[in-house]
Amino acid sequence: MAKIAFIGLGNMGSPMAGNLIKAGHEVTVYDLVPEAVSKLTDAGANAAGSAAEAVKGVEYVVSMLPAGRHVQDLYLGDGGVLEAVDSSATVIDCSTIAAEEARAVNAAAAERGVAMIDAPVSGGVGGAEKATLTFICGGDEAAVDHARPILEVMGKAVFRAGPAGAGQVGKMCNNMLLAIQMIGTSEALNLGTAYGLDPEALSEIMKASSGNNWALQVYNPYPGVMDGVPASRGYQGGFLVDLMTKDLGLAMNMSLEKGTATPLGAAARNLYRLHGAAGHGGLDFSSILQFLAGNDIE
Ligand code: NAD
Repeated sequence: MAKIAFIGLGNMGSPMAGNLIKAGHEVTVYDLVPEAVSKLTDAGANAAGSAAEAVKGVEYVVSMLPAGRHVQDLYLGDGGVLEAVDSSATVIDCSTIAAEEARAVNAAAAERGVAMIDAPVSGGVGGAEKATLTFICGGDEAAVDHARPILEVMGKAVFRAGPAGAGQVGKMCNNMLLAIQMIGTSEALNLGTAYGLDPEALSEIMKASSGNNWALQVYNPYPGVMDGVPASRGYQGGFLVDLMTKDLGLAMNMSLEKGTATPLGAAARNLYRLHGAAGHGGLDFSSILQFLAGNDIE
């Protein structure tokens, strides 16, 4: 069993760290929010007073933070995490951030002789809870192979997309597609229900037809159609509108840099941005259905 530091215990990090504990690993946790830490210590984790303290003497560091600036603060800031970690340790950043930010942090780790990979995830909070996440990794093959047994405790699929930063490129492509699918699914459900169709029946029809997709299968955006998804609990928890807006912004930066056409990705970014600006940035991203329907959201 490995000694692991886990930093960032939010919607995703908390269940991911919980699965490492359940598998018998010795996990030391750190988050800026004390309640997030105590939830994990109740489940058997050690608590550290700082990120630098958490990483001392561990074989793996896993981080799951909101955005690039948090990851840069953690690894390149004054906190001394890269100084405190053993050079034999492998650092795994699972946050979704820009590819160039991931490359900068990986390079700083390499200067210290520390192996680091970017390993953003797909699968949502449900995937984090059930340990069915997909990890999309960027970094040296040897580092990805070394991280694999730890990632396999938290997920069902581990891909190496290429060198440092490539995991983030793969993740951004996926999330742009996810946003477009969620908006399309919401439009179809709003259209059908406006004509009196039952949302559950319509979902079943589309699931068995050519419109079938991930949102319909496991993350239905219409309230009450599916148990256990954010749409059935007032769009609380899950994957926040603000985080989806961030990911779509990163995808648009990538598209501008290479000059590829991404008209639907651009429309999706604008819709999520407007939805967030209307005061809904803290809701799950499937709440776009209500925004498109012109509904007030409690
Ligand atoms: P979240 O906001 O719920 O959690 C982030 C946690 O990081 C918070 O508990 C916060 O206190 C902590 N944190 C921030 N800065 C810190 C620091 N310097 N040191 C220690 N802790 C710090 O976010 P989340 O939903 O768990 O998402 C995390 C990442 O995973 C994001 O990059 C997101 O884009 C990505 N992601 C999320 C989902 C999802 O469904 N929620 C799915 C796939 C990927």
